[in-house]
This record gives sequence, structure tokens and C-alpha cells, in this order.
Amino acid sequence: MELYADIIVDITHEKLDRTFQYRIPESLQEEVRVGSMVVVPFGAANKEITGYCIGVTALPSYDKAKIKDVISLKEKGVTAQGKLIQLADFMKNRYGVTVIQALKTVLPVKQKVEEQEKKTVTALLTQSELSALGETLSQKHQTARARLVKALTEKPELPYEYVTKVLKISSSTLKWMQETGVATVEITPLFRNPVQGISEENEDYALSRGQQYIIDEITEHRKISGPGKYLIHGITGSGKTAVYVELIERTLKRGEQAIVLIPEISLTYQTLRRFYTHFGAKVSVMNSTLSQGEKYDQMRRAQNGDIQVIIGPRSALFTPFARIGLIVIDEEHENSYKSELNPRYHAREVAAEIARLHGADLVLGSATPSMEAYYAAQHGEYRLFELKERLTGGSLPATQIVDLRAELKEGNRSIFSRLLQEKIADRLQKKEQTLLFLNRRGYTGFISCRSCGHVITCPHCSVSLSLHRDGMLHCHYCGYTQPQVQRCPKCGSSHVLGFKAGTQQVEEKVKELFPQARVLRMDGDTTRRKNSHQAILSSFERQEADILVGTQMIVKGHDFPNVTLVGIIAADLSLSEHDFRSGERTFQLLTQAAGRAGRGVKPGDVIIQTYQPEHYSVRAAAAQDYQSFYTQEIAYRSLLQYPPVGCMMAIQICGREEKGTADLAQSLTRQAHAAVRQGLRVQILGPGEAGVYKLKDLYRHVIYAKASDRQPLLLLKNILEQYRAQTRPANEKEYMQFDFL
Ligand code: ADP
Ligand code: ZN
Ligand code: ZN
Repeated sequence: MELYADIIVDITHEKLDRTFQYRIPESLQEEVRVGSMVVVPFGAANKEITGYCIGVTALPSYDKAKIKDVISLKEKGVTAQGKLIQLADFMKNRYGVTVIQALKTVLPVKQKVEEQEKKTVTALLTQSELSALGETLSQKHQTARARLVKALTEKPELPYEYVTKVLKISSSTLKWMQETGVATVEITPLFRNPVQGISEENEDYALSRGQQYIIDEITEHRKISGPGKYLIHGITGSGKTAVYVELIERTLKRGEQAIVLIPEISLTYQTLRRFYTHFGAKVSVMNSTLSQGEKYDQMRRAQNGDIQVIIGPRSALFTPFARIGLIVIDEEHENSYKSELNPRYHAREVAAEIARLHGADLVLGSATPSMEAYYAAQHGEYRLFELKERLTGGSLPATQIVDLRAELKEGNRSIFSRLLQEKIADRLQKKEQTLLFLNRRGYTGFISCRSCGHVITCPHCSVSLSLHRDGMLHCHYCGYTQPQVQRCPKCGSSHVLGFKAGTQQVEEKVKELFPQARVLRMDGDTTRRKNSHQAILSSFERQEADILVGTQMIVKGHDFPNVTLVGIIAADLSLSEHDFRSGERTFQLLTQAAGRAGRGVKPGDVIIQTYQPEHYSVRAAAAQDYQSFYTQEIAYRSLLQYPPVGCMMAIQICGREEKGTADLAQSLTRQAHAAVRQGLRVQILGPGEAGVYKLKDLYRHVIYAKASDRQPLLLLKNILEQYRAQTRPANEKEYMQFDFL
């Protein structure tokens, strides 16, 4: 059989779009595959150059007679670069993007050399020699040379930029300068180490038995049966990070490298210091404050072997290490591990593929594992370890659920239950601190009954309906609509309303009730300026306020030993998001928030207010019982074939023109249904208006597709893209995006 390879001869972002096709000779067919480095004849002169294979096909895209042969394999096996190409190929198949889009995500952005080097023009003559030379040149009217020499007389070292841009010295003058030995151009690489200067201090303790067990098992497994995948389920403070550090230590001893993913918000001084203590200059940290140039330097240093450990958010996965031996994903349940740009990859999935390509161990850690990870562990894909004790001391807080329906019945219309008010007053008097937490992410328009807590949900999808401006209730999954209800369908009460509670309102109410209290607020509004996030937290830590009101930003990262009360204003806020993950998110948020109380020596209290006190997410969080949450949540996911049991894809249709966008959503839905009639095994939901219908002047509709596995969803994506390519008029502005949920 004839096989053809698509070859890229220059792996830089600008040149990626240029691929060339070559025939693979019979003798090389076994060896040339995606990621291979090959030698090919190039151009009219058939100059031999090296390139990377990014695809193999039996169908040539050109006239066969004009296709040249691959000459040879440049290297046996696959280089680090080649592995990144293999990874891009995986992402292409997994997320249905082009290999070029995937390569652009995976390969570092090359920055101009000037940004990574410091160039200086350094005089080689003495000052008096220079000054004499300057005189002569002026007399000969060689003004440019004279200008340069005069400047060097005054200052024997000049920045290269200054010489070329300010003094306007041409390259021919520079050449003269170097050839005559007047001065030279010195180049020093500017390797920036973004976290220089963190002191190294020692942490001295013996690992606990639980920690030692995990490390031994992983090490043993590696020796006997090779790399493995692991999930460590352990509450904050149970010693997970200490386990990561020891595993990294062993990885480096084997001569391999490690990648550690930590959500950006948790990349605090306290976390990083521990890694620096152990690994010093071998570690580098990646975060969003680094410039492109700094990131590129980091990649080069990784490639050269100057660093062996990288810590960062999801993009740190693409560090071009030669031999990755360990990948750690801490707080693996965090939303930030899912990319919001194309390809919309999940770090967990990509990490598993990198681990497979390199033969690395993959270790996930979380206090509240994602349904995906735990489900995989239940099915033997990951080995599960548990760390149950808090090593930092401090007692677990006492948690109480307050039924807001009962409060209303007894005439309390305030957003604070009587119990919460009492506790706040008590803490103010004891000079201890309180966190008031609003578990809300942006806008939620759900409708619920204040008498019985019943939330109006979609009869087909079991997610809450939301009130739109047309006065109707909409389901964001399937597009189902119904009129707004006047009475609760469950208890008949007329107290059915939308839910409005923002951090600002909570702050105002606190001030009204407790005028003597010093209150700080933290949300999207108060943290818009750079560093204000940190400033608010530090101020609260220094006890400059008694009460901190905020969204989920307040429950991450920081430790507040003087906080002995955490109040969750309404668990319903996240519970009723229009999304099949709302129960999971609520459990995570409540568990995290509860974990904020009682960090110090004083015991803490947690009050969870809610209209749905019997909801399993609330009850399980209050009881700190992950198992019970998981059991009930997975039952719900199975029943409705939501991930991780089934697979789900969102097709988002956006456009500036309201009618055009709606029409496109309709015609795509018809195409999808037609594919189903022809035997495609997917279930189509919608179209419906997106959660935020109009965003930045774009109207947005969504179609959902569910299936038992991913393949039919990728097929559907192809079908819709083809339909679109065939029917799209040149001037049409609507576009679609695909997202695997
Ligand atoms: P996690 O990552 O699960 O939050 P850490 O590894 O950060 O847990 O450990 C929590 C705290 O306990 C840290 O201050 C750490 O220094 C300390 N610690 C970790 N392991 C031990 C141990 N075996 N003995 C004593 N203290 C420990
Ligand atoms: Zn009711
Ligand atoms: Zn629905």
C-alpha cells in the first residue's frame, strides 16, 4: 500500500500552516508515524532538510506523480518535540479540531531573540585612545563613526538598542567598529528566573504512615508493572502536597522531570515556598503575570535541562521536557483546568495522554474529587488513595443547616436566619472573625418557592428553569418553555419568586444589623484592580475587619486562624444553576467554605442557610461525607446519561443578527435530527437560548447532544461542519462552536 506523510518543515507558530506531502517508501512505512523526525528533499534543488511528520494518510492530496519520497528517518524513536506533535494529534481526535489548531496550543510561542538577550556595545580602547580617535574622525567628517566613538568615550558600555535607535548607528558602522577593534558587541543571555530570591528553609517531619504508604505503593508499582494513574482523596491539610514533594524527589533521582499543576489562584507564596525549599533552582513557576518572552525562556530552560520541575496552571502541561516521569494535578476538580479556548481541552485528559506518551505517573489530588475522576477510580482506571486526617491540628467545625422556609413561616424575612444573627453577634463580642459566603457565579435566574423550597425545573432535563425577559421560564438544555408560575406546583403557596442576593446587598444588610462591625467585601467589583484581591485578604488576615463578605474567591488559598464562623447565605444559589453540574459544584463550594472555619486552635461553626435542607449536596457537605454525595450524584447522572456516565457536547451558535442566528440554530437542529434518523446514536436537545442569551452584542443559542460515548458526537460535529461549509453564504456572520462537557 502507498502511504503519504504530511510534513512540517518549520515548527514555529507562523509557519505551521505550511505542510508538505511526501511518499513514505516501503522500507520506512513501519517507522514513520506522527511525531517522527524525517529527512526530505525540499524545493527545486531538492535540498535535504529535516521535518516532522504530523499525519499519515493513504489518500494523497496532490498529483501522485509530483509527490517526492521521504529520504530517511532522522532519529529513531520520538524526540520531545515529536511527542508534542503526537499530543497535538491526540487533541485533534479527542476535541475535533485541526492538527494546526492543536499544534498552536501545544507549541510554545517563539519570541524575538532580542527579548531574551542583553546586547551591549563595549569599548575595547582606553578612554584617551577613544577621545583621540573621535577627534580624527570629526576632522575627516566621518560623522556617524565620530558620534559612536564620542558616546563610548563618555560611557564605555552602551546598550545595543541605544546605539542603533538613538545614536542611529548603521550596521556598516558597527561592522567597521568591530573590525578595527574599537569596540565589540557583547551578547549575554537573559535567562529570567521568575521566582528568584525565595529563601530556602527546612521542613522537618517524618511522613505519616498514610503518606508513606501512598509513596511506597506508587514506587513499587512503577518498578513492577510500570507507570500508573492515581487519585488521592484527602481533605485540605491532610498532607497531599508533602506526598507530591516526595514523589517529585524520586522522579528527579531517576533523571526524569515533573510537571505540577496547581490552580492559578492557589499559586501563593506559601505553596511555592515549599517547592523551592526542596528543589531550589530546579523549579520554575509559570503564571499569568509572566510575559511571552519569559514563558519562552522557561520553555528553553526546560528543553536544555536547566529546570526539572515546572509548577503552573494547565498550560504548564506543554513544557517540552525530554523525559517526563510524573504529572501532578492538585485540586483536580477545579473549573480552571478546562480550557475556554479552542481546543477546549481538559487538563486531566491531556495529562493522561502525556503520561502515556512519556511513561509518566499521573497523580490527581483533591478534597472533593470531580465526578469524572472518582468515577474513573471506581472503574479501576485510577487507583484511589485516601488521606483522612488533618495534620495541622485544629478541629473540624460543627456544621448546622438552617431551614429558611421555617424562618419565613415564623415571620423572619431577613436574609439572615436568627441563628446566624446570634452567632455573628457572639463573634463580634469575642473579637473573632466571620466569613459570609455567597456561592453564586454570575447571574442566576431561577425561580423557587419560599414556603416549601421547591425549585421549578425542566420536566425533561432536571435542571432549573430560568426566567427570561419574555416572562417565560426556559430550559437551557432542551429549549422547553412554560409560563411563569403564579403558585407553587408542590404546595400551592404564592411565594414563588426569582432569587436576588448579591454581595453588595449582603454587605448593606450586615451594616444595618451590626452598625459597629467593620465589614470588607470581596467580589468581581472590588477586585477589578490588580492586586486588590490580595490586599483585601491580607487586610482581613491582619484583622482589620470583623466580617468578610464575598463570593468563592474568599474560600480559596488563604488561611485565617481567627475565623471561627462561616455563614453560607443561601446554598440554593449554586444548587439551582441551570447545569447538570450544579449539585457537584454546590458540594465542592460548601465543603471548601466549611473548611475555612476552625483552622486555628479555636473551634469553628458553620451555618448553611437554604430552602432545600434535604438536598443531598447540602446534607453531604454538612456531614463532610463525600461518599454519600457521590453515590447520589452518580445515580442522577446515570439516570439522565449525563457525564461522566454518558458523553455530552454543546453546539453553540452565535451571531449579531437575532433572526439569522435563530434560523441557523433551527437548521442545524434539523440536520442533527436527520443524522439521527439515519442511524447516528445520539440524543438531540434543543435548540435553546444560551444561559446568557445576548452577550457582547452576540445572540447565542445552544444545541446539546448526548451519547453513550464520544465517537458519535465527533461524527455529528463533522456532519454539521460539512453542512455549514456547503450552505454558508459568503457574507453570513453566524458561527458555531463545539464544547465537550
Ligand atoms: P494538603 O496538600 O493536603 O493541604 P499539606 O501537604 O500541605 O496538605 O500538609 C498540611 C500541613 O501539614 C503543612 O503545613 C505541612 O507542612 C504539614 N505536614 C505535612 N505532612 C506532615 C507530617 N507527616 N507530619 C507533620 N506535618 C506534616
Ligand atoms: Zn412550594
Ligand atoms: Zn429541558
